[in-house]
Amino acid sequence: MQLTFHGTLSSIANGNTRHARQSLLEIAYGGRRLLIDCGRDWLGGLPIIDPVALLLTHAHDDHSGGLACGAPCPVYAAASTWEKIADFPLHQKVCVPLQQPFYIAGIRIEAFALQHSPRAPAVGYRIQAGRSVVFYCPDVARIPSQRQALQGVQLYIGDGAAYRQSLLRVEDGRLCGHAPLSAQLQWCAEAKIPRMLATHCGAEIIANENQITRQLQTRAHRLGIQAGIAHDGMLLKLP
Ligand SMILES: [Zn+2]
Ligand SMILES: [Zn+2]
Repeated sequence: MQLTFHGTLSSIANGNTRHARQSLLEIAYGGRRLLIDCGRDWLGGLPIIDPVALLLTHAHDDHSGGLACGAPCPVYAAASTWEKIADFPLHQKVCVPLQQPFYIAGIRIEAFALQHSPRAPAVGYRIQAGRSVVFYCPDVARIPSQRQALQGVQLYIGDGAAYRQSLLRVEDGRLCGHAPLSAQLQWCAEAKIPRMLATHCGAEIIANENQITRQLQTRAHRLGIQAGIAHDGMLLKLP
């Protein structure tokens, strides 16, 4: 499986050359390609032709806004996301079940509910193809079924909105917002995940990526994890 990070910026207005565009991840496997998320700044032009499918993690504009005028392929999302983007002119809508694996183009996919926003409930996707298992959750405060979601994962792709700064809050007894990378690193350590990449980069990374990368890698190294920050155009080949 090959991953291409077309967009690695969060919803903050000003990115930089490494993180210029909002979330959009391409997964290629066996000659076919699917996309996950499509932020508003992709409106009017996807980076690849003929994706077999497009999956959404949630309805926030920096993840779904690029579909506000339609999509060239079937779109997969959880029921809670479809409620929020019911007015998008999408003709091939597929409702994704939670914690029930399904297949697209030979890729095994399983959605896990996340705590992130009560107004735009999010899922993370566990993606398995070839010998690789990846978990993708660009916006996450907490993973309620953390053990099942992360078991056997080789690469965790997480939420880079916050490094040290707290972007977490509690609403109706549920954690909302964005878990700091340090907390996500701890989740990886608990699940024995050897590799972590941050995407959906926020103000801290945009302002000081080199320093944060060094600090993150030092911390990760102590936990036996290889960590880094994804950037627009980054390509990753997995076995
Ligand atoms: Zn976001
Ligand atoms: Zn969000």
